[in-house]
Amino acid sequence: MNYILSIDQGTTGTTAVLIDANTMNFVDKLNKEFPQIFPRPSWVEHNLNDIWETVEHTVKQILKNNNITSDQISSIGITNQRETTCAFKKNGIPLSNAIVWQDRRTSEFCNSLSEKKDYIRKKTGLQLDSYFSGTKMNWLLSNNENVKKAYENKDLLFGTIDTYLLYKLSAGQSHKTEASNASRTLLMDLETTEWCDDLLEIFKVPRETLPEISDSFCNFGVTKDLSFLPDGIPITGILGDQQSALFGQAGLKSGDLKCTYGTGAFMLLNTGTEIKESQHGLLTTVAYKENGVAYYALEGSTYICGAAVQWLRDNLEIIKNSSDIEDLARKVKNLDEMEHVMFLPFFTGIGSPYWSSDAKASILGLTRDTKKEHIARACLDGMALSINDLLQAMALDTNEEIKTLKVDGGAALNELLMNIQSTISQVEIIRPKVIETTAYGAALASAIGAGMIKKEKVLELWKKSDSFHGNKGETSHYEMKKEKWTHYIKALFL
Ligand code: ADP
Repeated sequence: MNYILSIDQGTTGTTAVLIDANTMNFVDKLNKEFPQIFPRPSWVEHNLNDIWETVEHTVKQILKNNNITSDQISSIGITNQRETTCAFKKNGIPLSNAIVWQDRRTSEFCNSLSEKKDYIRKKTGLQLDSYFSGTKMNWLLSNNENVKKAYENKDLLFGTIDTYLLYKLSAGQSHKTEASNASRTLLMDLETTEWCDDLLEIFKVPRETLPEISDSFCNFGVTKDLSFLPDGIPITGILGDQQSALFGQAGLKSGDLKCTYGTGAFMLLNTGTEIKESQHGLLTTVAYKENGVAYYALEGSTYICGAAVQWLRDNLEIIKNSSDIEDLARKVKNLDEMEHVMFLPFFTGIGSPYWSSDAKASILGLTRDTKKEHIARACLDGMALSINDLLQAMALDTNEEIKTLKVDGGAALNELLMNIQSTISQVEIIRPKVIETTAYGAALASAIGAGMIKKEKVLELWKKSDSFHGNKGETSHYEMKKEKWTHYIKALFL
């Protein structure tokens, strides 16, 4: 038996997934979390050695758990938290912690470039925002002594997480990325899918430090000198995590839509080969690139989704596990009890569609009888209301009513949240059989890159598990909440 190994390097942890290479069936997954580093307010970092350690651990352990020898791995796919920026030496040793996508330290730098905002948006499809990698590379080159010195010594390599993992897996043979990841840097021309000299000049990022941009399905390189895998296994598929989830949800063609409820929430709509410019605060991005042809997507990004649940767990300690929020929130039997309670989960600013870097999270409308279950329920409401803003922007940009939404990601396991979403957004919510769509998408990408399957096979492989239709009795409550939500955002942050 042969297997495809998919490595899903996410924001909170790394998941190794095994797929049967003959049937493309999901076999097993194994996750390991790693520490989040918050050196200052609004700064978020990851230690690249911690990340690499979780890759080694999860791959070794999943093979062991399934009694599979490493020579049964026929190919590898990688999917990764996007935008998170790595600087490392040519020997693969990190020069600093990775600056995570949520980190807002470059907000001021972005403000200083504000007269170039429209040009940048046109060229890249992105907002001029600290979210994106080019601003973080600029910060590292201007502020980190190790990075500066390495650049002077011609020993500096930049990359997103896919690039770092590929470099490590191939013992430095491949310094590459692929188009969906590169489209998140602010340095890539969306039309040519190549690095753009003008943008490199604006962000002061030297071209020679950047990886080569490849298609999403191709031979990126082979494993070399690893303690946990033999030499020569080809890495044949790479996609940024959100694009990978779209792919895993069989979102191959124009009009296909999904939302992933992870640390943040990300809604992607495939627009085919058309670069669709948003008029309502969405981004334009590469969905995937195949045989030299780029396929694009409109994207709504909210920075905080499941991370709000983590905050209740880790900072307020009102739940022990993230999944406990569902039982706690279900204790609220009468929504009138919390008519005024609103949770605006903007811990790291607001992304789509409002783009306010300085926004902070708030809990509003508390009274003497507010209990922790009300906060829990308001937190789920806030997550769903943020996602509803993305859905509305999609409907406005496409001029089409959206009737169904495919969902995935850790927080999509929460059935109460799925029903709240359905009630608020008046859509049918559909969950797939394989809920690990991000890792599954990268496995499919790898299978295509290795020539095992054709792209169209992905449509056959996608299967529905269940769907949610909301709660009609709660519609008027949420109509009121939607109005309040928009009112507060406008009054507080815009
Ligand atoms: P990522 O890929 O961004 O690391 P995941 O898709 O693994 O995220 O989802 C993890 C996130 O989902 C965490 O923020 C966690 O708090 C949240 N989460 C997990 N289970 C639940 C649940 N049952 N209800 C709400 N949130 C959840």
